[in-house]
Amino acid sequence: MSYSVAIDGPAGAGKSTIAKLLAAKLNYIYVDTGAMYRAIAVYFSQNNVNPDDEREIEAAVLGVDITIEYIDGVQQVILNGDNVTHLLRTEETGRMASKTSKYAAVRSKLVELQRQLAKKANVIMDGRDIGTTVLPDAFCKIYLTASVDARAKRRFDELSAKNEPCSYETIKADIEERDYQDMHREISPLKQAEDAVLVDTSEMTVDEVVDHIEQIIKERQ
Ligand code: C5P
Repeated sequence: MSYSVAIDGPAGAGKSTIAKLLAAKLNYIYVDTGAMYRAIAVYFSQNNVNPDDEREIEAAVLGVDITIEYIDGVQQVILNGDNVTHLLRTEETGRMASKTSKYAAVRSKLVELQRQLAKKANVIMDGRDIGTTVLPDAFCKIYLTASVDARAKRRFDELSAKNEPCSYETIKADIEERDYQDMHREISPLKQAEDAVLVDTSEMTVDEVVDHIEQIIKERQ
């Protein structure tokens, strides 16, 4: 019997930062499902698959094999035998992932993989549809969000710290577009599960969020 915690929410709400810290503290395995949608997006880009053509996407998905490994506790995504983890965090891959994650062929493949992982170990899994679709029986569900401005500012600070040229307005527009796409797609749109606890991190520090959610998990355990 394994236990699962589901953390869902929009882009830039801090899901992966928080989920990683919680997993280390509570001795759970952290599963980043966004990385899987990003890996499949890398495959589409590398193979010039048109993201607007569902037929092309369906045919391409047949050639994709994605597996997950852990190196020193850090999730690695293996795409057709190659570790593509280092390619996943670019803005371009994020945009492609958001466009192609709406297709049934993409979602069913990755949801299956995510459920298999959750069967094998206690996981903290983050994404958009974990509490609503992937793990509806998760014993603890969190909907982590923050205002668009707070999320855009965090992303801007993150890129600036890495000396990557970026504009606040472009980042904000990008976040708004991804929110819209993720919340309005037909299959498994991003929304708060009925039994999820809402945590708005706009005015909270990382430590405050971690402590707060740890408390919620412990109460449920
Ligand atoms: O969370 P991250 O930004 O890495 O996710 C990239 C994209 O993958 C999201 O914008 C979303 O479209 C998609 N995604 C999804 N379902 C998940 C996780 C991510 O549709 N469970």
